[in-house]
Amino acid sequence: MFSTMQDAPLSIARILEQGSGPHGASAQVITWTGEGSRRRAYADVGRRAAQLAHALRGLGVTGDQRVGTFMWNNAEHLEAYLAVPSMGAVLHTLNIRLFPEQLVYVANHAEDEVVLVDATLLPLFGKLLPELKTVRHVIVSGGDKAALEAPKGVEVHGYEELLAGQPVEFDWPELDERSAAAMCYTSGTTANPKGVVYSHRSIYLHSMQVCMTDGMALSQADRALAVVPMFHAMSWGLPYAAFMVGASIVMPDRFLQPEPLVKMTAAERPTMAAAVPTIWQGVLQHLAADPHDVSSLREVVVGGAACPPSLMKTFEEKYGIPVLHAWGMTETSPLGSVARPPAGVTGEQLWKYRASQGRPPAGVQARLVGDDDQVLPWDGESVGELEVRGPWITASYYGDDDPEKFHDGWLRTGDVGHISPDGFVQLTDRAKDVIKSGGEWISSVDLENKVMGHPAVAEAMVIGVPDEKWSERPLVAVVLRDGQQVDAAELRDFLAGSVAKWQLPEYWTFIPEAPKTSVGKFDKKRLRKQHADGELDVTRLG
Ligand code: ADP
Repeated sequence: MFSTMQDAPLSIARILEQGSGPHGASAQVITWTGEGSRRRAYADVGRRAAQLAHALRGLGVTGDQRVGTFMWNNAEHLEAYLAVPSMGAVLHTLNIRLFPEQLVYVANHAEDEVVLVDATLLPLFGKLLPELKTVRHVIVSGGDKAALEAPKGVEVHGYEELLAGQPVEFDWPELDERSAAAMCYTSGTTANPKGVVYSHRSIYLHSMQVCMTDGMALSQADRALAVVPMFHAMSWGLPYAAFMVGASIVMPDRFLQPEPLVKMTAAERPTMAAAVPTIWQGVLQHLAADPHDVSSLREVVVGGAACPPSLMKTFEEKYGIPVLHAWGMTETSPLGSVARPPAGVTGEQLWKYRASQGRPPAGVQARLVGDDDQVLPWDGESVGELEVRGPWITASYYGDDDPEKFHDGWLRTGDVGHISPDGFVQLTDRAKDVIKSGGEWISSVDLENKVMGHPAVAEAMVIGVPDEKWSERPLVAVVLRDGQQVDAAELRDFLAGSVAKWQLPEYWTFIPEAPKTSVGKFDKKRLRKQHADGELDVTRLG
């Protein structure tokens, strides 16, 4: 028997109406300009999203054409986030930091027909445009469209001119909730990037999860600082979730360095903020040298890579700001698990829960799979690859058959770890980063976290390097804090108290800067190459 419930599709248009209607006057998008901010009420965002949709219809976007964005986090990007899916087209957020050949690949692969570009990114975009085979219209936001030289067959428009005079309401079509709303390509560190296509339904359900108390607990009382780029896994769902509940959102635009981030926090007083650990490391270092009032933050969300416990403790002990650790992937929308400890847990046990990747919510099923494909128990000890499934987990890649990544309807995450009986995931590594030393496994993340616990160390990366006797041994690459000195032997002594003797690294190198990926994570592939090319000055301790 079927239910008696109405079959109202879950859609971005409902999120748009909720944010721009009941919350239209109270909630705002605040975009940092370098010196101060510009503000726009959600009611205006809603009106402008309608205007954008009319303009796009005028350019021939009548179905599920892909509309790319090549933009920072700002008000206009938010308008595109809302307008494009609501009108039935597909938003494709282009990761501006990919290599040019990868960007060309993804825009051609997705068959983007229109691209919205921030004027500040025109020098970069202009170089790609001649290679983009399907693009017919480019819309330039925040600057002079004449700065872009268009190849034959491509029309260039100014964002504001295009919106001017368009009706401020749009009759949003009723769409199948399973239809494509937005797409995002993984950063593709090993092969070509792969496209994940989110549906209206998946985005709607994921947004609700972001707002749940045991999720990021986003509410209308919040002002969220979205540091994580809108081209990186949909800014972890913050723009849609904020619009859904009427939370205001602070957008840093291109000002993603520690200094402006600290400045905008002091000036705009966000209540929560989300970014990868390397960004927060930079912010903490800056704050130590140049104190600012960041007390408005009720919580800081860290994800995208393992959060070093030292980072959590500094935030908490020095600034009184709790850190919420979360795990996810582009493929998981991205929220896959959140580390909110169970009630009543205290002391070291509490830190253990908080430093874990957390508990998957009801919308995400998790299991561990061992070497010969057997499913392992949640006993807090058995180590295997994490597999997940659920309504906001991708079941395939767009136009790219990759059976390796899927297993009986589950997504293979490539992450290795264990799960406790109460459902907390503790990742030890990415499968490809685990160091296999004499038949035993060493967690690169565990070593990194421990080295970063030394007060002189700003950042530490650990990779496996070939070793005649053990097949692989850990190499630690250390970035020192400004003005600090420490040598390899001292760091190894520091580790000796907390790391098994056979895991203690003998290979060390000091580097001025850690190589990072397009989304700001440690780029171990590049470090491995630097090592293979003999570019690192490695000390071997006896
Ligand atoms: P990329 O693979 O290019 O980094 P994603 O942003 O989709 O693209 O990254 C997903 C991966 O990031 C996960 O599979 C995992 O390895 C890592 N990751 C994300 N969050 C965490 C976390 N909290 N702890 C450890 N690893 C994490």
